[in-house]
Amino acid sequence: KISYYNGEFINDDDMKVEYKDRAVYFGDGVYEVIRIYDGEFFTFDEHVDRLINSAREIDIDDLEREDVVSVLQGIKEKNNIENGALYIQVTRGIAVRNHNYPAGVEPVIMAYINEAVRPLTQQEAGVNVVTSLDYRWLKCHIKSLNLLANVLEKERAVKAGAKETILHREGTVTEGSSTNAFIVKDDVLITHPANNLILNGITRQEVLKLAKADNVEVKEEAFSVDDLYEADEAFFTSTTQEITPIVQVDNKLVKDGEVGTLTKRLQNLFDSQLNKLNPV
Ligand code: PLP
Repeated sequence: KISYYNGEFINDDDMKVEYKDRAVYFGDGVYEVIRIYDGEFFTFDEHVDRLINSAREIDIDDLEREDVVSVLQGIKEKNNIENGALYIQVTRGIAVRNHNYPAGVEPVIMAYINEAVRPLTQQEAGVNVVTSLDYRWLKCHIKSLNLLANVLEKERAVKAGAKETILHREGTVTEGSSTNAFIVKDDVLITHPANNLILNGITRQEVLKLAKADNVEVKEEAFSVDDLYEADEAFFTSTTQEITPIVQVDNKLVKDGEVGTLTKRLQNLFDSQLNKLNPV
């Protein structure tokens, strides 16, 4: 497998990250995960744009779009992976440890690809989630490498035998530890607005687009943990989890514990987007 670190494509077995890379001690950088389905990138421009915006949000202004694109395409072309997830991160640079920005350093790009399979079983059966306090910072719209709260909260789900932790601020659901959260109530699709309290997921945006185009009423409005308990349907979305139905929240069934009909419809619409990448 061929990966990339700081200017070079190298064998993944030889990948070593510089210990003075600011990612190591500050998590001082941003990242993206992009799916490749049957040899084609999915929502490529959206991920590249978000990476550059995230970088700008933390004052990494000198990240060139063409460098990002050539790393991503290089990884795709040098690896024969038809169905994969490509990871790319950009850090502020390599420097002696000081909190303030170092002078005269260049951003460091690292990227690699792994094989990925679609989570079809969980998409059909649905999953359990738990809820927990969202105690993250107030810049969750940045796809930052600082993921400690997300790591702690994902582990809470795993320990509880659940798939995801849905986070809330004072009872208002924001998003999952690595996903966006949606409910359906009285045929209306509801998800938290894209502000500083959530990452505006590319899959979230894709689902909203598909729903609107299919004449589903959509509300980008805050909803509560109680609304989640009492929802007709619920699901979460992400690049790797796609549209995953939530059938149980904190050990309580969502409605009758079955995957909802609108959720299934959105899953089908999402699948047809993937089929468009590689028409038969
Ligand atoms: N919210 C958080 C906190 C995430 O980490 C992610 C993705 O990893 C998402 C939402 C979903 O974003 P996307 O659909 O772009 O993968």
